[in-house]
Amino acid sequence: MFLEPKLKNTTHKKGWIEVVCGSMFSGKTEELIRRVNRSRIANLKVEIYKPAIDTRYHDTEVVSHNSNAIESIAVDSSLTILLMHQNADVVGIDEAQFFDNEIIYVCETLAQKGVRVIVAGLDMDYLGKPFGPMPSLMAIAEYVTKVNAICVVCGDLATHSFRKSKSDNQVLLGEKDVYEARCRHCFTEGMSNKTKG
Ligand code: ZN
Repeated sequence: MFLEPKLKNTTHKKGWIEVVCGSMFSGKTEELIRRVNRSRIANLKVEIYKPAIDTRYHDTEVVSHNSNAIESIAVDSSLTILLMHQNADVVGIDEAQFFDNEIIYVCETLAQKGVRVIVAGLDMDYLGKPFGPMPSLMAIAEYVTKVNAICVVCGDLATHSFRKSKSDNQVLLGEKDVYEARCRHCFTEGMSNKTKG
């Protein structure tokens, strides 16, 4: 389990970037919420942002699949985060894969200002390819945590998000009706069955 190197910066404020990534149903958002809640217990000021595109559950809440809700601000572009940031010690960003590439600059700017930035997102899209700004965020982060789901086919650790439908839009929101978590082997098998069928 990830433990913060320090929660409070008493002498000089030094920020950093953490990335929590993995497939669908891997518990990324739960891990983001866990870290944010620890900061709240330490009396730190927290802000959470998510892209306006992801309104699956509720407009102003980061809601994970187990309904562990936390209040968040939906923004249209990543630069809006810099405009809206108000002295929070900790900034959480959920579903970061849906943001534009400016999110990298945004995270670096916040960290430079002394903010602890916690970014959660899908590392791969439904084709198993790196998703949006996630690879760059993982590269610039001080700490990267990959979380895994369980493969619905074989029960091994799952790293991939398999899309059950045939849509080829990179952004297709949904959960258990649209996607399932699969290991690399079962993902590849499913993909080749799709092209055959
Ligand atoms: Zn499997």
